[in-house]
Amino acid sequence: MRTRTAALLLVLSSFCSIAVFADSADFTVKKVGDGIYAAIGTDGGKAGSNAGFIIGSNGVVVVDTFEDVAPARDLLAEIRKITNLPIRFVVNTHYHLDHTGGNAVFAQAGATILAQRNLRGWLRTENLKFFGANPKPEQKATVEALVLPDETYSDAVDIYLGTRQIQVRYMLGHTGGDSVVTVPDTDVVFAGDLVWQKHLPNLIDATTSDWVKTLDKLLADHPAATFVSGHGDVATVADVRDFHDYLVTLRDAVAKARAAGKTDQALVDDVLPQLQEKYGKDCPAASPDKKPSAPTATCWGFFGPFSKRNIMQTAAELAGTKKVPAPLADADKSAFGK
Ligand SMILES: [Zn+2]
Repeated sequence: MRTRTAALLLVLSSFCSIAVFADSADFTVKKVGDGIYAAIGTDGGKAGSNAGFIIGSNGVVVVDTFEDVAPARDLLAEIRKITNLPIRFVVNTHYHLDHTGGNAVFAQAGATILAQRNLRGWLRTENLKFFGANPKPEQKATVEALVLPDETYSDAVDIYLGTRQIQVRYMLGHTGGDSVVTVPDTDVVFAGDLVWQKHLPNLIDATTSDWVKTLDKLLADHPAATFVSGHGDVATVADVRDFHDYLVTLRDAVAKARAAGKTDQALVDDVLPQLQEKYGKDCPAASPDKKPSAPTATCWGFFGPFSKRNIMQTAAELAGTKKVPAPLADADKSAFGK
């Protein structure tokens, strides 16, 4: 009996050490295609979001760089375990700090930072708002030191890693400066924050009318793809459809409440229970160490922090009072007097 107890304890303790190791990791690297990897951030960890990388015949493209240089350094180390090819490009899917905070690590490693042109205008200014009305000097310094893109594009650009083509395309919805990265020789789509897997999205800069159309297009163009989401796990087509349906549900519920003459708190009180029923139900109690629990079909991640804000921000969008970052003026066109 004693031997069995000792054996059980040994099994339990080795299981716990594996669990602790997994818990302390800020992200998990998952292979999602031939030479294509997702780096899935742990909720509540230092990565702050998802990233990924694509290996071609003569180099590597990294998609997004996490929230900070420390997890970005860890990501570079993980890439180096798989390949020694040069990191040729980083694509920032959008300007938000949790996807661009590690740019410096890859710039130092020799990568060219590439993004949609609006991002260059917003990276060091719009990111300040995430620290509230009065950012501390060190927070201001962090934002003002973010490494800007070396190259920008307007609507579409292709990268060739030797024989491998990578397509970068401008799509609307999350910020007005988002890029989707696809690899035509496989069925993988890096969607950035245009796709959240079983997580409520951040709508601070969103135009959900455009976002729903973008998701329709992604689903039509890639009906069997694997999607690397911006937050949550690697997403299936069903996950993308569920996320599309979340935005439609939110927009419809807010529109109905507005049509019934509701505003402000009365509108939130009307819509929140409807969202709760589908996306915030039967949520497990918080663990003693306050680590967020894994999302389920009826209890999505970030329901707590984002549900009310999603409602208010969508109400503002439908009322036409929502402020979103202004696109850069088109210098090319004005130069030709068009
Ligand atoms: Zn974002």
